[in-house]
Amino acid sequence: MSVYARPIARLVEELAKLPGIGPKTAQRLAFHIISGTREAAEDLAEAIVQAKEKTIYCSVCSNLTEADPCPICTSPGRDQGVICVVEEPKDVIAIDRTGFKGLYHVLHGAISPIDGIGPGDIRVKELLQRLQDDTVQEIILGTDPNVEGEATAMYLARLIKPLGIKVTRMAHGMPVGSDLEYVDEVTLAKALEGRREL
Ligand code: ZN
Repeated sequence: MSVYARPIARLVEELAKLPGIGPKTAQRLAFHIISGTREAAEDLAEAIVQAKEKTIYCSVCSNLTEADPCPICTSPGRDQGVICVVEEPKDVIAIDRTGFKGLYHVLHGAISPIDGIGPGDIRVKELLQRLQDDTVQEIILGTDPNVEGEATAMYLARLIKPLGIKVTRMAHGMPVGSDLEYVDEVTLAKALEGRREL
């Protein structure tokens, strides 16, 4: 039997399902929520539901957005000729912090034969659709510097280069096997600056 009252146990259990939240942190968060006001608890619950309900995928770049197309795709200040291809929405945030002023394309995953994830399971088709006119001059492959990210970059390079579009890969100097979101801003900016043509 749990030492917690059942509603608390349930909250701890739900919180512990979140990435990076272990049982101890879940317990700390749960007690923090319970000791707060009813209003604070409602605000939190409401924010979670609203974020889930009101967030959609941009029909152009597949990033998470409230408006479609997203503010990045519709921004007049961005270079429409450069698309940085990344695995996840959180990578857009990481790269945008470096001051990158092009567009993005979010694949929502990476090719991983071991896990049974092929090109049809990530947003490759949507990327190719964006390359049908002559607007895009360069594709920067910003997939993670690990096995899956490299395999995805190689696959995309083979697919896109024959279209006559310059394909570059973000330089290393990034820790191999790492996840883009954990790479610091300066390293990321350098990796972007030092990108090489494939
Ligand atoms: Zn977009």
